[in-house]
Amino acid sequence: MTYRVTLIPGDGIGPEITAATLQVLDATGVAFEWDQQAPATLAVERRGEVPADPVIESIRATGVALKGPLATPVGSGHRSINVALRRAFDLFANLRPVKTVIPGTCYEDIDLVMVRENTEGLYVGVEHFVAIGDDPRAVAESSAIVTRRGCERIVRFAFEYALKHGRRLVTVVHKANILKMASGLFLEVGRDVAKEYEGRVAFNDRIVDNAAMQLVLHPQQFDVIVTTNRFGDILSDEMAGLVGGLGLAPGANVGSKAAIFEAVHGTAPDIAGHGLANPAALMLSASMMLDYLGETDAAQRVKGSVIRAIRDDEVRTRDLGGDATTTEFASHVAKLVRC
Ligand code: NAD
Repeated sequence: MTYRVTLIPGDGIGPEITAATLQVLDATGVAFEWDQQAPATLAVERRGEVPADPVIESIRATGVALKGPLATPVGSGHRSINVALRRAFDLFANLRPVKTVIPGTCYEDIDLVMVRENTEGLYVGVEHFVAIGDDPRAVAESSAIVTRRGCERIVRFAFEYALKHGRRLVTVVHKANILKMASGLFLEVGRDVAKEYEGRVAFNDRIVDNAAMQLVLHPQQFDVIVTTNRFGDILSDEMAGLVGGLGLAPGANVGSKAAIFEAVHGTAPDIAGHGLANPAALMLSASMMLDYLGETDAAQRVKGSVIRAIRDDEVRTRDLGGDATTTEFASHVAKLVRC
């Protein structure tokens, strides 16, 4: 079987880490037909109107994309294509696993998964200024939109993920003591959904500030964390920090009709074009894609080989303290995948 997948190499280090990842995917023997796309801008309106666009058409047809990072201008210029793609395909679940790869770093044996709600909360962009007197920006007002349907599908996604991947515990992270409605609804729905999984996956909840501290003090007490957009944004970067930073942090944006797999990091313009980029996070994202496609054996081989190359063979790019180039790392991982 050949899988048709949309390929977006992206900007900055994107083309380098994408080429490295394709070399590793090629070594798995799984057959892909890549539909390569290069989005420049993408204007998806807040209410979901989707313009005719080759990238959108491609993902609509394939249902799966492997994506490098895309640059977003700060302050002015076009809006984030990443956010536009999430909106266009209602990619409600942002999945970010973190795992210790290099022993002897701050924490041993970290193996956590963040399931972040990707489409609601404070990030819906419902905000405005209120003028008072001659100050047009005297007050800024932002609304968090949290729906029962949105809470239900993300919490259910977390439990289903836990079941499929043999995880023992789902923790709902919230701030329901203060945000009694926006966060209270999330916790209420979390408790309801958890009852359906009783006896199969354990459940508990943590207030977000305590969760942030506990992640630093005793991260091993967590397993799968599910939370709303803003809390997930902050805690998932904290979790990436527990295992040594962004170079090892893969991610997936998943909806009911499409999924986009990408590393958590950005375009790294400071090192682009020099062969220094670490492609491990995109390779691990590709492993998640293989798992999503049902190619679990190939997924395990890619993930295991990336970990073995870094941990055991000490083939590491500069960000991990080594001197391997992007292509040297790719060739080594591809060799391990073939073994
Ligand atoms: P960044 O992640 O690109 O870089 C932060 C630091 O980490 C830099 O020092 C960089 O060299 C290093 N780094 C990142 N990835 C690396 C890798 N794979 N190997 C080695 N070192 C790596 O973050 P930034 O500088 O804040 O953002 C740059 C651009 O990327 C911006 O335009 C931003 O909008 C975009 N961005 C895109 C995505 C995405 O497409 N999903 C995500 C984040 C940022």
